[in-house]
Amino acid sequence: MTKRTCPAAGCISWTAPGKFMCRPHWFGLPKPLRDEVWRTWRIIESATHRRAEPEQRLADIRAYRAACAAAEAWWND
Ligand SMILES: [Zn+2]
Repeated sequence: MTKRTCPAAGCISWTAPGKFMCRPHWFGLPKPLRDEVWRTWRIIESATHRRAEPEQRLADIRAYRAACAAAEAWWND
């Protein structure tokens, strides 16, 4: 897992390994946004996903990216 900075605008905190945002930004998100990032992340980490058809895998990854983008947009817009 590579180290990276939090995607929230102006934030220079490193995110913990496997975490999407720094703690204050992550816990500052509305719960529905956090839940959606978790839900879609768990899908792409699941065995079901790894065995899925390529189209389904792509759809799962797109759903996760969309959830991350929505969470980032909440801080950055
Ligand atoms: Zn942050």
